[in-house]
Amino acid sequence: MKAVAVFPLSREVKLIEQAEPVITQPDQVKLRMLDVGICGTDKEICTFVYGTPPAHADYLVIGHEALGSVVEVGSAVTHLAPGDLVVPTVRRPCPHARCRSCRAGHQDFCETGDFTERGIKGAHGYLAEFIVDEAQYMNLVPRHLREIAVLVEPLTIIEKAEHQLYGLMQRRPPWIDPAVSERTQGQGHKALVLGAGPVGLLGAMALRTVGFDTVVYSREMEPDPRIAVTQEIGATYLSSQALPTDQLETHIGPIDLVYEAVGHSLLALEVLKALGPNGIYILTGVPGLQTLIEADPATLFREIVLKNQVVLGTVNAGTQAFKAAIADLDVFHQCWPRAVLALMADRIPIEQAAQRVLERPTGIKSIISFQL
Ligand SMILES: [Zn+2]
Ligand SMILES: [Zn+2]
Repeated sequence: MKAVAVFPLSREVKLIEQAEPVITQPDQVKLRMLDVGICGTDKEICTFVYGTPPAHADYLVIGHEALGSVVEVGSAVTHLAPGDLVVPTVRRPCPHARCRSCRAGHQDFCETGDFTERGIKGAHGYLAEFIVDEAQYMNLVPRHLREIAVLVEPLTIIEKAEHQLYGLMQRRPPWIDPAVSERTQGQGHKALVLGAGPVGLLGAMALRTVGFDTVVYSREMEPDPRIAVTQEIGATYLSSQALPTDQLETHIGPIDLVYEAVGHSLLALEVLKALGPNGIYILTGVPGLQTLIEADPATLFREIVLKNQVVLGTVNAGTQAFKAAIADLDVFHQCWPRAVLALMADRIPIEQAAQRVLERPTGIKSIISFQL
């Protein structure tokens, strides 16, 4: 069967032929892959700055944003059947008894760093015609979400963040309002989404859904499909080319929440200065190597203390975030069907994946599709 793999030693990314995997344990399922999304992490792996092949392998099959169809189940699997659509989680627990998070099934909070991630770290990914995996890591997707469910994995980033955010928002007494639930937590609050890529736009959709007055701040200028999506979901778009970061606060007022989704440290730092009193700043981007910058930590920390601010980093997602993402994607699709479809304008066959992963997508997100 076909797969796309990166060979770090010979610095190659290519289509390979490998044996079709078979079920060897009663708790496993076999999937035929349908769609696999490509993101910045894949690009970093394919430029050899990130990613680790499985032990004893000289290559890593990439792909972690996946949708598959169950074709076979092991004898102990009772909750899935052939034909079911599933989105697999990415991270698998570390082996250490001392890791309280992994032992409790929360490997997205792994304490040792010895977890594996399919398609990223120590385990092959999903950009292959078939995969075999443990059934417990599969998330069932309703059939009517077939065309868009490849967006579930990037959506889990905001879902995990939002779940933590709700707890953080409860710390300020006026926000402890019995009428406010996790589904309405943003009402009366202003959010700034930094970056209009897929993670930023899915974040903006999620924030709109729970009631945040949402501004998306990114470098694109009109006309751009990212700006059209922003407007369609009822958010405001501001271009960093037209409005510098030091004017954000005066232009839009106190910002209660920043959801950062660009991985650019200087920009993230500049926007932190615009965060309002009691504000919460969520970092999701992973900055690569960037030029050293001068900063004034004393002023920065003083502001964080004097304004009761929170800076929170978040990575990966657990089962709860996957379930929330599947439910939210259904809501987004009902509210803004055109905007959701516009996120994935670009579907290409696996034969073009190796070159496409390195290119800038022609749409907002590139999807490798096995059924073209
Ligand atoms: Zn990704
Ligand atoms: Zn662990």
